[in-house]
Amino acid sequence: MGENRKLELIRDKFPEITARLNVEKDSNYENMSSQEKALFKDMFETLQKADPKLFMSLFQTITTCSEKSVQDNKIMEQNFDLKEHLQLLHNELVGQNVLFDKKLTDDVITYQPAVDNLYLNYNYLEPKDEEKYVKQAENVLEKLRSHPSKPNRKLAQCLDDEKIVFRIFKGDKMDGKCQYRKLNKEDKKRTLVINLSEGCFNRHREALGMVMAHELRHFIDGKGRPEGYQGKLPAVQEYFADAVGYKMAVNCGFDIEHYKEENRNLGQSFFSERMDYIEQLQNNDKILSAYMARQKFNESH
Ligand SMILES: [Zn+2]
Repeated sequence: MGENRKLELIRDKFPEITARLNVEKDSNYENMSSQEKALFKDMFETLQKADPKLFMSLFQTITTCSEKSVQDNKIMEQNFDLKEHLQLLHNELVGQNVLFDKKLTDDVITYQPAVDNLYLNYNYLEPKDEEKYVKQAENVLEKLRSHPSKPNRKLAQCLDDEKIVFRIFKGDKMDGKCQYRKLNKEDKKRTLVINLSEGCFNRHREALGMVMAHELRHFIDGKGRPEGYQGKLPAVQEYFADAVGYKMAVNCGFDIEHYKEENRNLGQSFFSERMDYIEQLQNNDKILSAYMARQKFNESH
């Protein structure tokens, strides 16, 4: 179909398109088929190029919670405080930290459907090609969940009786994402889907442990929230996943440097500041272990 014809069609059908998205956003776009997602992706791209105004309107539609959902979220907040939830978990697993507390104070809760689910339409490898990568990822997960220290034990607890599926998608970037969703409409329970790029096993294989640890922290955070809650703290959630992910990964002896380097290479302050935070934690750990070594020395002399 020609671009002009396509644009005409989108303009024509715009009310139906937004109506469809409005139905799906309350369930975080989890029930859309990949054909439908591909269609939407094509539509976004067409509008972005040809009709910025209509694109913005579509963007508003997909990223804004329905009135009803905001009300429901506010009711949930009578028994659930997202900031407190993240702070308690962070302090339990990483320890209290001034920088994290400041990020928490500065960040503002926004209500947003999980737009990622709409954008993300991974091009997965064939099952036979996935196999060797899935084995590697399973090994990493086994290490992460069986280490006896606190953050790792927490992961083991959260994964207890969860169904886990690994999916490997095409692309050589360092990229991953955990999704916790019903794979089929008729499923009673949700499944944890750990999506990882092919790049995590090749060019970025040193970072695999840290990428997985980061993504699994999002899962633990999400699991502690009420079902259907759509409040987000976009910045703090990432600091949280980095910090606790770092603790978990470093306990298992996984490399942290490649992850930091790749994120810094993106050249965006949001990413490099997060890496500064990881570095601060690394330095604290260094000081602590030097102190512990000294204590031991003193005790034995
Ligand atoms: Zn993240």
